[in-house]
Amino acid sequence: MKLTARLLIEHYKLLVVGGGAGGCAIASKFVKALPKGSLAVVDPAKFHYYQPGFTLVGGGLMKKQDLTKNQSDVIPSGAVWINDGVNKFVPGKNLIVLNDGREIAYDFVVIATGLELRYDLIEGFPKALDTPGISSIYHPQYVEKTYKELQTFKGGTAIFTFPNAPIKCAGAPQKICYLSEEYFRETGIRDKTKVIYVTSLPKIFGVEKYAKELNKIVQARNIAVYNRQALKKVDTDSKTATFDILDENSQPTGKEQSLQYDFLHVAPPCSPIEALRKAAAEKSPLTDEKGWVKVDPKTLQGVEYKNVFAIGDCAGTPNAKTAAAVASQFKTLRRNLDAAMNNKTLNNEYDGYASCPLVIDKKHVILAEFNPQGPLETFPWDQSKPSRLSYLMKRYLMPPLYWHGLVKGRWNGPGTYRKIFHLGMKK
Ligand code: FAD
Repeated sequence: MKLTARLLIEHYKLLVVGGGAGGCAIASKFVKALPKGSLAVVDPAKFHYYQPGFTLVGGGLMKKQDLTKNQSDVIPSGAVWINDGVNKFVPGKNLIVLNDGREIAYDFVVIATGLELRYDLIEGFPKALDTPGISSIYHPQYVEKTYKELQTFKGGTAIFTFPNAPIKCAGAPQKICYLSEEYFRETGIRDKTKVIYVTSLPKIFGVEKYAKELNKIVQARNIAVYNRQALKKVDTDSKTATFDILDENSQPTGKEQSLQYDFLHVAPPCSPIEALRKAAAEKSPLTDEKGWVKVDPKTLQGVEYKNVFAIGDCAGTPNAKTAAAVASQFKTLRRNLDAAMNNKTLNNEYDGYASCPLVIDKKHVILAEFNPQGPLETFPWDQSKPSRLSYLMKRYLMPPLYWHGLVKGRWNGPGTYRKIFHLGMKK
């Protein structure tokens, strides 16, 4: 009886869990090489968003509809789309369990489930998102509300938060702050508006080269920066935001600061999805203690389970979590996964590259490109300087590069261009 049930389990040569940036890139690449019906993508979402454009939607520079596609149009044709979420990973048995209870077995699995937005970790949320004055570009449902709130804001205190937790595109919370500050100037309310950026970090940006320029910008534009504070709760009746004051190890000191807000932009704490957190709670060697998929940060192969790979925000790698990182990881993963499937040695290594186009106003971007060791710039000029060309790339080049390059499995990141522009002198 048990044997019969086992034989009925759906089985795929390659199972991709999560059909976002990384999942679609890998599925697009491998679906062409594998026999029909042997690759499936598990993803519960109906829509696929170009998330890096959310900042521009919040600032009124793009429309959400321009960044949205039906997931059915993005999952590559030829791949089986399982339109449900993973509920449990059972890597010891090479299978996952879906939310509807179905078991799906695999020979190889790529985990690409991104991050879960954890507004629930802030007291008063997510309900507070529906109240006047509060918005968040991180949430597809509230990204447009950000621009609407900007349009109805009449001056007062505008607060922009950065959480005490991992977050995708760590630059986005300050990009929306800069675009909003510019909007307040354009609409003539800047002189009656106090702009405050409250961050859990000790400095404005992790990479010193860019932090130096950003510090000049916040000073010149009179944006107050409060460091080592994390949003703890919001009382929407009294319009009060309360922050934990953090110590040098980013732990709450027990002291708090409360600020009145008229406009509050919240960047939520993020975490791995629940199924990975569950694996962590069960001490599965699939993940570390927080639920990040435990992979070799260079080869992206599972440390314990060699038929498991991870790409993107869910991977336990030390890079900044961005779509730009996904593109560079994709180059490594597609080669290493192919090698593993053919019993060959894995010899491609991810260099930790990530990028964050820091939009500082409607015309300029500081194109931060870096890895955990420091800047890793593509172009032969100083990218820490605000640039019009970088803005044009962010606005007009990167969205099509995502839709026609990355998710189609055709964009490996700018490594080759970096070599050309630096005459082969940079890796
Ligand atoms: P995602 O693309 O998020 O995909 C994860 C997928 O997993 C989703 O399709 C989701 O539906 C699916 N999933 C979730 N739960 C389950 C489940 N239980 N089972 C199966 N599937 C599941 N990056 C940049 O490079 N530059 C930028 O300027 C930039 N700006 C950003 C601004 C904002 C406001 C935001 C939100 C992000 C920004 N990013 C930027 C980050 C970038 O979008 C992400 O790093 C990138 O999308 C990560 O790709 P991923 O494949 O890991 O995850």
